[in-house]
Amino acid sequence: MRILVVEDEKKVAAFLRKGLEQEAYSVELAGNGTRALELALSEPYDLIILDLLLPGLEGMSVLRELRRQHVPVPVLILTARREVDDRVNGLDAGADDYLVKPFAFAELLARVRALLRRQGSDRSAALQMSDLTVDPVTRQVSRGARLIELTPREYAILDYLLRNTGRVMTRTLIAEHVWDYHFDSDTNLIDVYVKRLREKLEAGGEKRLLHTVRGVGYVMREHER
Ligand code: CA
Repeated sequence: MRILVVEDEKKVAAFLRKGLEQEAYSVELAGNGTRALELALSEPYDLIILDLLLPGLEGMSVLRELRRQHVPVPVLILTARREVDDRVNGLDAGADDYLVKPFAFAELLARVRALLRRQGSDRSAALQMSDLTVDPVTRQVSRGARLIELTPREYAILDYLLRNTGRVMTRTLIAEHVWDYHFDSDTNLIDVYVKRLREKLEAGGEKRLLHTVRGVGYVMREHER
């Protein structure tokens, strides 16, 4: 699940990113409204967390422009503006939820989960392949009765590959989806993560589901080709 966090206060942005990444969300940051709009119009996000008071283009303008262009992404406004009028305006402009700073992180997470659930059952329904089950709501991963502990990054890679079952995903695609920055596709960082993930998936001697396509990338499929 990819979340765009629009926040100009560096401390708050770093706090949000850290907390969300610990929950295995993939997070991108935008520090101003123009950048936020550019990203939101070009990349598919599952959710946007939007501050209102931003340098340059204001949060409300970002929101209005997204809705004007029929971008359906759920938007959670996170702002210090607490007046009823502000909340009404935000929701009327097309926000899906509104949370006032200071906020409890647990409440933010609960609202994020609720918005992601509302988006459609296909996003929150358990993913299954052979004896592998991944529950995006509880983030529980298992093979048969064996529970598998994954780090947030490993989970994010598995979630991404599983949602693209049968499609070979390149290292670049995986890097761009799971990390929020672009790096050289010949780095072996992705390989290191995938290797660890695969070891955990096969620790009970289960059959291989995560395959390497030499020179290209990785693919989830039931049968070796
Ligand atoms: Ca701000």
